Amino acid sequence: MSGTPFLSVRDLHVHFPTADGTVRAVDGLSFDVERGRTLGIVGESGSGKSVTNLAVLGLHHPDHTEISGEIRLDGQDLLTASARELERLRGNKMSMIFQDALASLSPYHTIGRQIGETFRKHTGASRKEARERAVEMLTRVGIPQPDLRVDDYPHQFSGGMRQRAMIAMALVCDPELLIADEPTTALDVTVQAQIMDLLKDLQQETGTSIIFITHDLGVIADIADEVLVMYGGRCVERGTRKEVLSTPQHPYTLGLLGSMPTLDGPVDVPLSPIPGTPPSLLDPPGGCRFHPRCSFTEEVGGGRCATEQPALEVVDGRGSACHLSSGQRARCFADPAGTTRPN
Ligand code: SF4
Repeated sequence: MSGTPFLSVRDLHVHFPTADGTVRAVDGLSFDVERGRTLGIVGESGSGKSVTNLAVLGLHHPDHTEISGEIRLDGQDLLTASARELERLRGNKMSMIFQDALASLSPYHTIGRQIGETFRKHTGASRKEARERAVEMLTRVGIPQPDLRVDDYPHQFSGGMRQRAMIAMALVCDPELLIADEPTTALDVTVQAQIMDLLKDLQQETGTSIIFITHDLGVIADIADEVLVMYGGRCVERGTRKEVLSTPQHPYTLGLLGSMPTLDGPVDVPLSPIPGTPPSLLDPPGGCRFHPRCSFTEEVGGGRCATEQPALEVVDGRGSACHLSSGQRARCFADPAGTTRPN
């Protein structure tokens, strides 16, 4: 990676004050996204992936959220930008595809009108120009007979077609950053593969930077250039796709990989889900937030994992937050079932 990153996030904290205390949804997160590259953010539900990206888009309610740190898009500080400026940037310079297209599209308006309205809002185009642009976008995302289907309502589209329509709407103003939040989770495997191919083709065509949020490392393997693994609101590992998937450094990443089916793996060996549940962000565990679920705390010794938060050491974009030395890690990770051993 080289040059000034297109998106730069530094020491981001996103906290939600509640009657029961403060939910520390994101706690000191830093990452970059280069132009034309795809960053995959992976983690279980509640790890802070979506909260992070809603902060980038400026979609958290200011009265109910405490946000600190720095988010810069093409050099512009988004945390100090006005609501009006953020609205201008959303849909124009950055946009988002959500998981549930049916919930995200209005059932009362045609697909063409919804795509066209986004275009009109940001460009001032006429209704006729907006309709032409909607047909063009439906063509680009592979909707058959786009000049007819542009007048359909969302319920007349299949799940895969609705997701394509969402992508068309997200890309209608040629955004430079696209955030895709679990965009294929609700789709069957074949349609999922088609949508991934479509995103990759569109990225090649337009040079858009993509943040792809998922809980599924298999999806990451298909699309990401760089990978950031989140746990309990923090980054626990980052690196290139090959580094993270082939030589994981963090026990949590190892656990995610162990719970993922592979085509070339032995069929008679059961998958190994990570024991336990993700931490409460209202009252997260001290030290390493993964320690109640980690099998390697004794290897570190001295109760250090429960008391001392491991720093994220990053060199040339590669690093992890774990107290294991490289020698200890090599020993522990040689046992592929390591993360499933009871403490
Ligand atoms: Fe496991 Fe300790 Fe490393 Fe955390 S710091 S991942 S608890 S070994």
